[in-house]
Amino acid sequence: MKKIFALLMIAVMTLSLAACGKTKDETTTNPETTNAKFKAGTYEGTAKGFGGDIVATVKLSDDKIEDITVVGDSETENIGSVAVETLPALMVQKQTVDVDGVSGATVSSDAVKAAVTNALESAGVDVSALVPAEAEEAETAKTEETLDYDVVVIGGGGAGMTSAIELKNAGLNVVILEKMPMLGGNSVKATGGMNAAETKVQEKLGIKDSVEQFVQDTMTGGHNLNNIDLVRTLAENSADAIDWLESIGAPLSEVTFSGGATNKRCHRPEGGAAVGSYLVDVFSKDLDKLDIDVMLNTKATELMMDNGKAVGVKAESDSTDYTINAKAVILATGGFGANEELYTKYRPELAGYVTTNAPGATGDGIVMAEAVGANLVDMEQIQTHPTVEQTTSIMITEGVRGEGAILVNQSGKRFTDELLTRDVVSDAIVKQEGNYAYIVFDQALRDRLSAIDSYVENGITVQADTIEELAGLINVDSATLAETLSTWNKAVEAKKDAEFDRTTGMDYDLTTGPYYAIKIAPGVHHTMGGLEIDTQAEVMNTEGNVISGLFAAGEVTGGIHGGNRIGGNAVADIVVFGRIAAASAIDYLK
Ligand code: ADP
Repeated sequence: MKKIFALLMIAVMTLSLAACGKTKDETTTNPETTNAKFKAGTYEGTAKGFGGDIVATVKLSDDKIEDITVVGDSETENIGSVAVETLPALMVQKQTVDVDGVSGATVSSDAVKAAVTNALESAGVDVSALVPAEAEEAETAKTEETLDYDVVVIGGGGAGMTSAIELKNAGLNVVILEKMPMLGGNSVKATGGMNAAETKVQEKLGIKDSVEQFVQDTMTGGHNLNNIDLVRTLAENSADAIDWLESIGAPLSEVTFSGGATNKRCHRPEGGAAVGSYLVDVFSKDLDKLDIDVMLNTKATELMMDNGKAVGVKAESDSTDYTINAKAVILATGGFGANEELYTKYRPELAGYVTTNAPGATGDGIVMAEAVGANLVDMEQIQTHPTVEQTTSIMITEGVRGEGAILVNQSGKRFTDELLTRDVVSDAIVKQEGNYAYIVFDQALRDRLSAIDSYVENGITVQADTIEELAGLINVDSATLAETLSTWNKAVEAKKDAEFDRTTGMDYDLTTGPYYAIKIAPGVHHTMGGLEIDTQAEVMNTEGNVISGLFAAGEVTGGIHGGNRIGGNAVADIVVFGRIAAASAIDYLK
């Protein structure tokens, strides 16, 4: 297997990740009485990570940090787990705890550092006095390398991985370029589900839905700014995409409501697990199984063109400049929700908003394609997600409201139909006192949606046995909050919300303690605009013609979601259009 990883990942592969045992002090020297720098031995330290305890085992010799192993099995797969896997090797290499964290995994990175610090401090080491070791090998000049593939896929999020799997299954030689140290992009953060209509899963569950209704909901949700041909393509291919996911070992067997949907069509993994990490995990294993080349830490910088046709890409890692020749290029670089400079160019009022986006979402694909004549659409259509915890930027999935949670303001009152489209709910929150609100739910809801566990573990929920106690904890008048809950529960029972006309996510009342609240406000979430594509995922130029050999899928494209993406349509987008981009590239190569 020819897999190409940048240096960091090679270092990581060599690192032992054995589970740590009990601290075993093998002291042979005492720095107080010798010239030794450290008290040699093996030391253990723990710290709280994103999903639970992180345990570090540090082995010291007289003068060196010899080895660090870290175990943190509860960190989010493909995000926090990358910090657990990569930072120890870096710390040993640099002989200090003070190394750069993994971007996008701040909580886990900090926890790894804290656990190692605790271990070192238990050995009497003054961590702040550790001086970073000089790089052992002399700085080597960057090398140049030329590679040849049938198709190069830029971006290893959901759309890119889907395309690559389909291309390889068709027998093509394909590579994924991913600029971050891990795959997954924004896709891995998707906690809701995937919209699809007329699926076998819906049929089995007795849910009536139609492709036509899916199209209508998407158009209405998008304020009819959407490109209806793309929407139709999305909806018509959605059921097949669900079957395809099942065929590769990623069944989405539960179906729930999502904001803006008339019917239950948001497909998610059994037990309500977060859809993004679930899919990225299966996709990653498939990439491995299919022996697909993945170049991590490798950033595409420029599209190579010949006579108007895309013929490859220039890319770079820390050590190498690549020229990658290919017969077709698929852009799957995601959106630009992590690029404040770019999104405030189109929407200045979003300056200072937190973002829910992975750090790689900087719009590179849009910039690269624009440079070769691609047309951009809807760039000013930027969605805020209404329920984002502001100190951590953790997004509270719409599934929580879909399962029956309500929003209350600081006066303890509801103020909107919580399942209206994201833009409307975001606007409603911003109009409340303090520009925030609380999302309130009960234990029964938590039990139905395992995605909530990570919010609790992460310390962003407030929890109390009674509504009154909960009100006290969030400084809301307890009688008002109790009244709000009581009115809501009656509305659920009567299936009629007299206050705000909410009609969905009303299957369950909120009567089972303990009760929970999370303080939330909107954050930049999805950039609906991007490259103009046709229904075959071919990238269009500013003259309205197809750019030969250049295809795009996922958040890098514009037009599908119009003025507002409804929950569950991003995952549908990456799977449906990721497959279409692959199919079109396959056709193009014939
Ligand atoms: P989508 O949902 O459309 O698949 P994601 O955000 O999940 O989008 O994935 C896009 C991926 O593309 C991210 O992992 C991001 O780091 C990666 N990416 C963005 N720009 C580049 C680039 N210039 N070179 C390589 N990878 C890139």
